[in-house]
Amino acid sequence: ATAPASPAWRERFPDALEPLAAVVGADLKAPLVDGREVRYANLDYAASAPALAEVATHLFEVLPFYASVHRGAGYASQVSTSVYESARSAVRRFVRARPDDAVVFTRNTTDSLNLLAGCVPEGADVLYLDIEHHANLLPWQRRAHRSVTAAPTIAETLGRLESELAAGGVALLAVTGASNVTGEVLPLAQLAALAHAHGARIAVDAAQLAPHRRITAAPEDERTAIDYLAFSGHKLYAPFGAGVLVGRPDWLDAGRPHLAGGGAVREVRLESASWALGAARHEAGSPNVLGAAALARAAQALGALDPDAWHRHEQQLREALASGLEGIRGVRVHRLFADSLDAIGVVNFSVDAYDAGLVAAFLSAEHGVGLRDGRFCAHPLLARLGLPSGSLRASFGLGSRLEDVERLLAGVAQLTERGP
Ligand code: PLP
Repeated sequence: ATAPASPAWRERFPDALEPLAAVVGADLKAPLVDGREVRYANLDYAASAPALAEVATHLFEVLPFYASVHRGAGYASQVSTSVYESARSAVRRFVRARPDDAVVFTRNTTDSLNLLAGCVPEGADVLYLDIEHHANLLPWQRRAHRSVTAAPTIAETLGRLESELAAGGVALLAVTGASNVTGEVLPLAQLAALAHAHGARIAVDAAQLAPHRRITAAPEDERTAIDYLAFSGHKLYAPFGAGVLVGRPDWLDAGRPHLAGGGAVREVRLESASWALGAARHEAGSPNVLGAAALARAAQALGALDPDAWHRHEQQLREALASGLEGIRGVRVHRLFADSLDAIGVVNFSVDAYDAGLVAAFLSAEHGVGLRDGRFCAHPLLARLGLPSGSLRASFGLGSRLEDVERLLAGVAQLTERGP
């Protein structure tokens, strides 16, 4: 094995030496406990990805037109309305949705999935796995639901889901596109085909997948189509504030409006109202125009990336991180499935001798490395994995470089050499 940061080691990862895109804060300095400063090594992209520089530029371009949308006749209102509606079209193109799909702007993925939970027809179950982020678990617990414990392989997990679906009475299979805990990618085409074969629809929590993979909601083969997709701007290199739900309009038009208020209604009488159809039905109140504009511009930027270069950059960083950690005695890398074929830029691990929180605090204070520790809003999964007090998650994206990974590895190695 070659030592991390050695010339031979770097030669193995030539496409990971440089960031793939410019992000805001790439040269942020982090203060260390000994009073020094180092470049902040951001390995927490899965929590929130830094804004792409081109997204920030776009925000400044549209900021002067900051005005009410859909309501004012003035010039700024017209431009704001056009920015907002163009953002909707850009999202539709980004996920290659059906022409009649609703594209509803929300606050984030959590909001999108709660919105959908309010629209699934009554009287049928929602089915989900135990690997889900709470955002794709708690909204379903509020309605008729069934859960399935994932098996050690994807193949076996599909079998378990099939048995549940075959039992009948499932309206919706809600599944993550990629695990926010380990980064493993779920086989969405197979899952969609399975759900559809049993008369159910599929909703994909794409909070983690969308920033890493091109998604096609409406592929040529209708059996593998995704009925609903939810994701967040702040994980997609767009500043906080906007999320989106894309999907089939019938349930959304028949469902309870997500928020009651101006803009979501056709006609209001003192005691009752007739509600609008389409996105407006669920977007009451003044919308987050800048959040939507940022999300859409980030989507356009990701759509324009060279898929091969994107893949090489991500996979080399991932391999460097996972193999580097596996080479350190006393470190365990966690995976969900023995047969997963693909994973996004997330690596989950534990340092045997140390509590995860302590490792994260040490890496931040002494090495300027930011990563996440805890249970990742996936309590049922962490309990099943035998990690009730949590683990560590390093995650990266377009602004990452091999040096960030090397800093993490050096910090973890230093800690394990110290002993408990
Ligand atoms: N789903 C997954 C897989 C996530 O990783 C997250 C955030 O970590 C969410 C949903 C919730 O996203 P948000 O906090 O933007 O609603």
